[in-house]
Order: sequence, then structure tokens, then C-alpha cells
Amino acid sequence: MKRGREELEGNGGEEQAATQPAAGEPATAAAAAAAAAAVEEPGAAAPAGGQPPAAAAVEDDDDDDKPLASNFKMSRSVRKGTECPYLDTIARQNLDFDFEKCCSVTLSGHNVYACLVCGKYFQGRGPNTQAYTHSLEAGHHMFMKVDSGRVYCLPDMYEVTDRSLADIQYVLNPTFTPAEVAKMDSAVSWARALDGSEYMPGLVGLNNMKQNDYANVVVQALCRVHPIRDFFLRPENYASCGSLLVQRFGELVRKLWNPRAFKGQVSPHEFMQAVMSASGKRFIIDRQSDPLDFLSWLANALHTDLTGGKRKKRSVITDCLQGELEVVTEAGTGLGRAKDAAADVTEKVPFLMLGLDLPAAPLFKDALEKVIIPQVPIFEILRKFDGSTVNEDIKAGRRRFRITRLPRFLVLHIRRFLKNQFFIEKNPTIVNFPVKNLELAAAVPVPQGPDGSPVPSKYDLCANVVHEGKAGEGTYRVHVHRKVEDQWYEVQDLRVGEVLPQMVALSETYLQVYELKAQ
Ligand SMILES: [Zn+2]
Repeated sequence: MKRGREELEGNGGEEQAATQPAAGEPATAAAAAAAAAAVEEPGAAAPAGGQPPAAAAVEDDDDDDKPLASNFKMSRSVRKGTECPYLDTIARQNLDFDFEKCCSVTLSGHNVYACLVCGKYFQGRGPNTQAYTHSLEAGHHMFMKVDSGRVYCLPDMYEVTDRSLADIQYVLNPTFTPAEVAKMDSAVSWARALDGSEYMPGLVGLNNMKQNDYANVVVQALCRVHPIRDFFLRPENYASCGSLLVQRFGELVRKLWNPRAFKGQVSPHEFMQAVMSASGKRFIIDRQSDPLDFLSWLANALHTDLTGGKRKKRSVITDCLQGELEVVTEAGTGLGRAKDAAADVTEKVPFLMLGLDLPAAPLFKDALEKVIIPQVPIFEILRKFDGSTVNEDIKAGRRRFRITRLPRFLVLHIRRFLKNQFFIEKNPTIVNFPVKNLELAAAVPVPQGPDGSPVPSKYDLCANVVHEGKAGEGTYRVHVHRKVEDQWYEVQDLRVGEVLPQMVALSETYLQVYELKAQ
């Protein structure tokens, strides 16, 4: 993912630097460092009572400097925070690492530094680079390299190390130990943002930049699938994956669970940029899309990227969401294989989600001319998968579906939107469903275990995406269950509030994620 070295990066001291070999003989290193001090670090040339520059010099393993390793390097001196007069000028309230890290002048994403005073991004740190120039023009001196978290003082160009910088480095790149991940759902945790407000890690709002609420609800719902969340909380798990989408999704998940965030909300801007490019602009920030389409696309894209395009391989996505259907198409129906077949055609088809059809909704009006919204129990519409109900479709034929493998997390979507030639219609039917203990076996035959008895098939709801408003417009919000306190929350973009389970069950549900209960 790292782009190659580009011209701009060396646009300054790094390339015009001297040519003595730096590594090796101490004497040579000292000479190089002394030259460095003389040429480029006038301020550091004679630290009062300090160490000679050679002793202060450390190997700078900065990526950008690597190809120059055999040359003299300008930024070899490191100072402790107490030796840097500008540490106090850092303004944490101005720092926001959620937006795409591009130089505000050149728009390049390569070799970018964040000004820790005003929060803007600039490229390079050598003389005449954008960051360097900004330090002179604005009088801002503290810069953090965004891909390494290292902090430099410009224009003096020494590196600053100090424990007080750790919180910024953490916000830039939140990390979790296996132990922290393991107890994620076993303790109620509260955190405090910079402005003093409290937030719950994992239950923070996502900024709706224009019309990306369709994506926000999907991210929130997918994060309730805890093995997927846990996988993405540990970048080690996908470090070798070159997919920008995977990396950005991982970053977003880690930011949502950051217990030391500066603010109690996250902007999915960088993730959405990756989505936009990976989907060929099918999903963008400024146009509302269907969360169902988005979830389906995202799950497939993450799976494909995590398996290196070998879609048959397993990934955390398929391990969690994939089940299997037996599809029987009646002979002589449809336009596919069954069309000319002598007998019914039976196929095993993997699925990541199941679509449930609503009965056509006649809009009755009662005596007071009020529209009565019909209701249907979820068990009734689940019968589509009972192995005997026939589903008619001109193209696909007369088909029967039966679930032959239950997924660990069952994603259901309610087909509320009917597209006809001219417009999209919304079926407002209320689906009645239990928030806890949805026994699938009550509606459909469930697969049998090795001993012939039915496998466990009781599910608890963990996320519920709701549409509000008319078809083609309106907004999406999501109900999410926080296990540790058995509490439901409603999240609509930035707003997070408690909600009663009864209210969850009464909503115009559109997309649901259920977790198979441990027996
Ligand atoms: Zn600045």
C-alpha cells in the first residue's frame, strides 16, 4: 500500500545532503553528525552542556530515509521533551486523524506530517518542504509523521521523544493487546474525551459527512459480530493484506473502540475514501445507498481481499456469516439448468444473508380514516426456507429453499423496497420478532448434527437496522446490543442513546444480525 518514493519527498535536505557514509566507524559517524549539525542544525551545533551531537545521533529507521542510509542524514539528533521548548505548544483539541492524510498544499498522501499545533497536514520535513515552510510561516514547530508517529521539531529538524506524546501516537494508531481484546465484552467501560464528555468505547457515533448514513449503520452492525471486531482490532491479523479497504476498515474498527480517544465520535472519512475507490464509486459519501447492497458488497469485498482473491478459502467473514442453503428447482421451470432437465435440480448454495419477503401490504383505513399498518410475525416470513414453500420467479423458476448449515451470525434482510419500472415502493409492514431467543426450528426444519438430533438453532438479536421515511429518501439508524450490560442503544450517525428492547422490536426493521446462542 505504501506508494513508491516520489520526487517530492526528497525535495530538500534529504537529497542534497552530504555523501559521507553514516553507519560504521564511530569516527565517521561522529564526523557526519558534526557535519549535520554544522550544515543543518545550527541550533543543535553546540548544546549547552549537552552531549556531543554524535552521541545524540540515533539510527533513523524512518522509511523515507532508508534509501539514503549510506548517506549522511539530516535528522539524526533526538532530544527529550524537556529539551524542546515547543512541546507545550501542541494543541490536542485541534488534532483529528480521521480525515484523509494528504498534504494540505500538494494533496499528496506521501511522506505526510501532521502539524501538532493547528492539525493540518504537510509534506516532507527537509528545507523547502511544505512542513518546513509551514513551521517558518506559521511559527508552528511540532510535527508528527503520520505513518510512524515520530515527532520532529521544525525548522530545527531534531526528533523529539517524550512520554507525553504517547496519547497522540495512540489516537493516530490505536492498538489492543490480546488480553484487552479478550475482555472487551466483560467489563463496562467509560472513557472521557478531551472536552470532558464521557463516551463508551465501541458505542460512539459515526459522522454523517453528507449522505453516508447507509454505510454508518452497516459498520455499526458489522462491529456487533464480535469475532469480526476482534479480528480487526489486531492489525497483526491482516498486516500482510495489501488491500486498502481491509486496512481502512481495520483502522475504523480500532478507532471505534479506542478507549483513549480525544473525542467521543469518529469520522469514517478515510474508510469511505477506500470504499469509494474499491467500489468504483458505486458507494460514495454524497449519495444515499441501500445498506443491504452496501453490506453485501462490503462483506464480499473484505472476504475477497482477505483471501487474496481465492474466494473458496475461509476468512473471518465467511466463518461468521456464511451458511448454506439447499435450493431445489422444479424440472421444466425457469431459464437455468432446470429448464430442460428431466428431474428437479438440487444445488447447495452458500449464503451470507437471507432475504425475507413481506406479504403485499393492502393499506386499510379504519373508521377514522387512519391508515392501518399491517403486521407479520417473523416466523411466518421465515417459512420461505422450510424446504416446501415454493418461490416463483420467471428467471429462476419454481424453487424451494432449505437451510442446510446455520451460520454463527445470521443476517436477515426484510425486502421492504420494491422496485418497479417507474419508482421504488416501500412496504411499511411491521415485522414482529423476538429480540432474544429466536428459535429458528419453530419456523423451518434445521440441520441435524452427527447424532441425528437437530443442531442448536436459537438466536439473539445483536443489531437491527431501521429505515425511516419514504422509499428513495429517508434515513437509516441502527439498534445495537451491548452484551456486557444487556442494554440496547440506538445509534443515528453521531447520536447514541439508550433504547428499550420493546422499541427495537416495534421498529420498521430492514436488516438484522442475530448471534447463535451458546447452548
Ligand atoms: Zn500548523
